[in-house]
Amino acid sequence: QMKSDFVSNVSHELRTPLSSIKGFASTIMQDSEMPLEVAQEFVGIINEESDKLIVIINDLLDVSKMLSGHLQYNLQVQPLEQIVEKVVTLLGIQAEAKGLALGFELIDVARVNVDATRISQVFTNLVANAVKFTDAGTIRVQQWVAEGRVHVSVADTGIGIREDVLAHIFDKFYRVENVVHTKEGTGLGLALVRGIVDYHGGSVDVRSTEGEGSVFTVQLPLAP
Ligand code: ADP
Repeated sequence: QMKSDFVSNVSHELRTPLSSIKGFASTIMQDSEMPLEVAQEFVGIINEESDKLIVIINDLLDVSKMLSGHLQYNLQVQPLEQIVEKVVTLLGIQAEAKGLALGFELIDVARVNVDATRISQVFTNLVANAVKFTDAGTIRVQQWVAEGRVHVSVADTGIGIREDVLAHIFDKFYRVENVVHTKEGTGLGLALVRGIVDYHGGSVDVRSTEGEGSVFTVQLPLAP
């Protein structure tokens, strides 16, 4: 079943961390004899849940800026592999926590004229999704050059995406509702990915087999 009720998705995504923040804050307030370690643990949770809220709100702001054409880009010629490598290193911790092997295979180096922050956001979304929707196996990131363009693929051995749904997953606010794998998310990530890649004159596509995994491939023009 598909669901694209944006307001209810986003409200739910905001309410979950907010309820948790409220709950832990009032527990600390009401218990004057709470041991310091317990209070510290609760404050740690409040801090983490606040970070989740910030991520969601930043995505919302980015999408709204993108829709109105106001997303700022600071283009600079630079090696793409440095951006990709950093993302892979950062998300390696999350992958490791799930027992997933995450690796970067650099076949060809490539200089591109891009906004490093935005392109980093693209690969963060793709690799984070791969980690989120994979329970066992590997996530493989590869970079190569062909026909004057650089290709970066993110391949996972996760739950995969149904064929009838594939055409929609880059749509704004689109999420696949799955009873077995109900994951957090607002359905904004891939819409942002596509918008950012389009801006750079590139493209993004996906191939997937349900139950076997998915491969997302980003193509970008090489810097002249
Ligand atoms: P969300 O914040 O919900 O993850 P996205 O736009 O990033 O939003 O993704 C949209 C939907 O596409 C997800 O809800 C999920 O169903 C599907 N999806 C994205 N990446 C993957 C993947 N690597 N494997 C399986 N499903 C995926």
